[in-house]
Amino acid sequence: MSRQLGPVPSTPYEHLTSDSPYGSSRIRVSHSHRIDIERPSSGAVETALACGTCGDQVEITVMSVGSTKVWRLGWLLGVLLSVSLTAACVVGIVSVGPDGGGALIGSTAGFVFGLFCVVYTVLHWWHEDGVRGPGLPWRSGRHFVRHFWAGPR
Ligand SMILES: [Zn+2]
Repeated sequence: MSRQLGPVPSTPYEHLTSDSPYGSSRIRVSHSHRIDIERPSSGAVETALACGTCGDQVEITVMSVGSTKVWRLGWLLGVLLSVSLTAACVVGIVSVGPDGGGALIGSTAGFVFGLFCVVYTVLHWWHEDGVRGPGLPWRSGRHFVRHFWAGPR
């Protein structure tokens, strides 16, 4: 997989067709559609396209190559900060030892939070394609952008 930024984003948007409970989890089925919006030469362009499944308007923001690279740099900075936080907490855990009491609990909580931040920022850094749309990265609503797209770029 390449992370090259083409003239059109490769991240798709999705139309959620069904969302049903399955045990303690859920099964979500959606249709993928290409975002055929050309990247602007600078900044970002906000536009609506007609959903390929239901025809409703889906608001999509597409960033220029430059803006997308700035976001990637921002995520990378986040990766470095969260790795530093995690490392500092490991040092904290080791230095207070098993009888550290509150300091040990604090360092351990920081370590767990740091690991979460490392995973979150690495995923965003790797998958940043300069596209924003309805819904959250972990999906919500009828339309959403599949941020963590692992398909061909
Ligand atoms: Zn739709």
